[in-house]
Amino acid sequence: MKNTDSPIISFKNYSFQYRVQKRPTLKNINLDIYPGERILIAGPSGCGKSTLASCINGLNPYSNPGKSEGTLIVDGVDARQSSIFELSAHVGTVLQDPDGQFIGLTVGEDIAFALENACMQQKEMKEITQHVAELVGMEDHLEYAPYELSGGQKQRVSMAGVMVNQVKILLFDEPLASLDPATGKQTMELIEEIQQKTDTTVVIIEHRLEDVLWRDVDRIILMEGGEILADLRPDELLATSLLTETGIREPLYLTAMRYAGIEITEEKKPAHVESMLLDETDKKKLQQWFEMYTEKENAGKDDILLEVKNLEFGYSEDKKILENVSLSIRKGEMVSIVGKNGAGKSTFAKLICGFETPDTGEILLNGQNLLKENIRHRAQHIGYVMQNPNQMISKPMIFDEVALSLKKQGFTKEEIRRKVEATLKICGLYPFRNWPVSALSFGQKNE
Ligand code: ADP
Ligand code: MG
Repeated sequence: MKNTDSPIISFKNYSFQYRVQKRPTLKNINLDIYPGERILIAGPSGCGKSTLASCINGLNPYSNPGKSEGTLIVDGVDARQSSIFELSAHVGTVLQDPDGQFIGLTVGEDIAFALENACMQQKEMKEITQHVAELVGMEDHLEYAPYELSGGQKQRVSMAGVMVNQVKILLFDEPLASLDPATGKQTMELIEEIQQKTDTTVVIIEHRLEDVLWRDVDRIILMEGGEILADLRPDELLATSLLTETGIREPLYLTAMRYAGIEITEEKKPAHVESMLLDETDKKKLQQWFEMYTEKENAGKDDILLEVKNLEFGYSEDKKILENVSLSIRKGEMVSIVGKNGAGKSTFAKLICGFETPDTGEILLNGQNLLKENIRHRAQHIGYVMQNPNQMISKPMIFDEVALSLKKQGFTKEEIRRKVEATLKICGLYPFRNWPVSALSFGQKNE
C-alpha cells in the first residue's frame, strides 16, 4: 500500500439516493483508495456494492437518476460534477455478463469499438488494439466471432475494450459470477498481471472470496446496508467472524478449520491456504477431524435410490459429452455434482429426467429401469429445478403452476388443492398462493 500518495478514489461523508427510492442506498461512505492498490469490495446481495461502483464510473446518476451528498473524487475529477463520458477516460468497468457487453462482430472490432467511436486513425487504432489484445492474451483471436469464445475469453475481450482508453482505474463488478472456479482463478491471475504491467488501480466487487483470494488483494472493504462495516487487510478480516455475521461465505478451508476446533488468527495468515501457518496442535486437530468424517461417510452402503451405470451420451455422433459415468445415490443423501463450464453437469441431469436419451448405459431408480419411462412418469419421482427459473414456469398464477403436474396425473380438484397448499407451505410461499408468478423475485421463483 502506498499511503504516501494522495488517493485516486476518495469518498468523504458521501451518500447516494436513487430518485425512485425512499431512503439513501449509500450512507456515510468514507473511503480512500490509493494508486496501484487492489481492493475487494464484499457484502451481502443488495448492500449497495454495485451502487458504489456506479457512483465511481458515473452510471449513477447518469443512467439511474438520484442525488448524492458529500464528496467523491475520482482520479482528480469531481465525480458529482462530471459526466459519465468524462469519467470513462479514467475508469474502465467490466461487468458480470461478458455476453451482454460484446458489441463487435469480431474480437478485434469489439476491442477497437471505443477508438472507432473517437474517430481514431486506422494505423494507430490497429496498434493500440494489438497492444491491449496482447495484454489480455487474445492477440491470436482478433478475427474470432463472439460465439467462438468461452466465457473467460469474452471477459478478456471486455477487459481489453476498456483498457484502450488507458484508464487508471479498473472496476470489476462480480467478474467471476458466470465462470467456473478454474477460469475464475485465471481471471484473477490476469487481473493481477494487468495491474502490475499497467500500474492501474483495481477495484473488484465479488462475493466469491475464496476465488478472489487466489491472488493477493491489499484490502477488503466489507459493506452492509449501504455502509462500510470494515476496511481490513485479508488476514485481519478472515480472523474475525464478520463475514459469517454478514452472511458471506468465508473460504471453505477456514470453515473446515473452525469445525476442527482451530482458532483462526491474523498471525496464521489465513488469506491463502497454501501458506497458512498452522502449528503442530492445529495440524493434529485437522487430521482428527478429517478421519472422523471419512468414517461417517462410509456408513450405511445400502438403500441405493438412484443408480447410474456406464452412461454415455453425445448431442452429435462425433462428440461424446458423457462417457463412462457410473454412480449411485442413496436415499436421503444430498449430493452435489461439480465440474467446470461445459463439463456435462446439466446434460447429466437431462438424461436422468428423460429430456435426452443416453446412447448407452443404464439408469435405475429403486432397482427399476428408468429408461423405459417417459418424462411425465419420471416427473412423479424426480423433481428438477433449472438454473434459470424463468425457463421453467409456464403458468401465470402461482397456484396453477404448482398444480400443473398434479392435474396431468389425474388427481381430483380437492386432492390437488391439498397437495399444492402443503407444498407451498414447505417453500414459504403459502401467503402468495393467489399471486401471479410475475410478482415473485428470482429466488422465490426457484423455490
Ligand atoms: P449489491 O450490488 O450489493 O447487490 P445494489 O447496489 O445493486 O446492491 O443494490 C442496493 C440497493 O439499491 C437495492 O435495494 C436496490 O433495490 C437499489 N437499487 C439498485 N439499483 C437501482 C436502480 N437502478 N434504481 C433504483 N434502485 C436501485
Ligand atoms: Mg451487485
